[in-house]
Amino acid sequence: MPKRPKRLKMPWLRIRPKEYKSGSWSKTDNSKIYNGQRWRRLRKWFFVNNPLCAECERQGLVTAGTDVDHITPIRLGGEVYDEQNLQTLCKSCHARKSGREAHMK
Ligand SMILES: [Zn+2]
Repeated sequence: MPKRPKRLKMPWLRIRPKEYKSGSWSKTDNSKIYNGQRWRRLRKWFFVNNPLCAECERQGLVTAGTDVDHITPIRLGGEVYDEQNLQTLCKSCHARKSGREAHMK
């Protein structure tokens, strides 16, 4: 009878490659930022000063913004708390931008 190894569970195999590739690690980090008081305050302040969607404004439209977006995404090295890296977007523009960024690596 060959000896069986006692422990077959290998903890490093629990890391699912799919999650690793989709960048959910950095997403976890970002949620810390977005839930932080510093970001909430900055977001609120930015929103008061920039209530309209920047993307719609470029197209000559006036649309009330719903989200404060990072122009250069945090995971691509964008500044988190720099107002120069922020813009207000409406829901549809934000969704469109996020969709585009999903293809950027
Ligand atoms: Zn818009």
